[in-house]
Amino acid sequence: MLRQVRGRDRLGRGAAAQSAHTRALTPRTETADRVVDSVCPFCAVGCGQKVYVEDGRVTQIEGDPASPVSRGRLCPKGSASTQLVTSDRRVTTVRYRRPHGTEWEDLDLDTAMDMIADRVVATRRRHWEWEDDQGRRTRRTLGIASLGGATLDNEENYLMKKLYTAMGAIQIENQARI
Ligand code: SF4
Repeated sequence: MLRQVRGRDRLGRGAAAQSAHTRALTPRTETADRVVDSVCPFCAVGCGQKVYVEDGRVTQIEGDPASPVSRGRLCPKGSASTQLVTSDRRVTTVRYRRPHGTEWEDLDLDTAMDMIADRVVATRRRHWEWEDDQGRRTRRTLGIASLGGATLDNEENYLMKKLYTAMGAIQIENQARI
């Protein structure tokens, strides 16, 4: 009240109501060593982002005011993308739940890659179709499909499309298109 009367904040909604603790706070972007321009990976809107880095670690991600797409804004998902990089709940190992299993287990990457390759080869062989029931040449497999997530970037999608098409798969989709 005293601060309201003495100062310029007569309505008590600014400096007069601020504690010393709040006054001492600084934005977490202020101490960043560098700021890297990026694009939100979550959806096809492609909002511009500013990635703040301190001591080699991402400390904050904000909307980029210079982006003609989003003009500094991010939706709640884009605003939370810092957690995509920094969350301690982020999964960093290969997780596997075997048939009829009830628990997830860790697998080393080489084992997982071998298992995937074995399954791809076997499935392609089992479901390969040279021609359809009217004798038209198809040379395809309907046994393999791909559904990508929006955090895949253009280059990854390009390579996946190439790989799956080369294998004869035709059901190749991405979450951002659905
Ligand atoms: S901030 Fe939201 S709307 Fe923008 S690209 Fe990311 S997910 Fe899409």
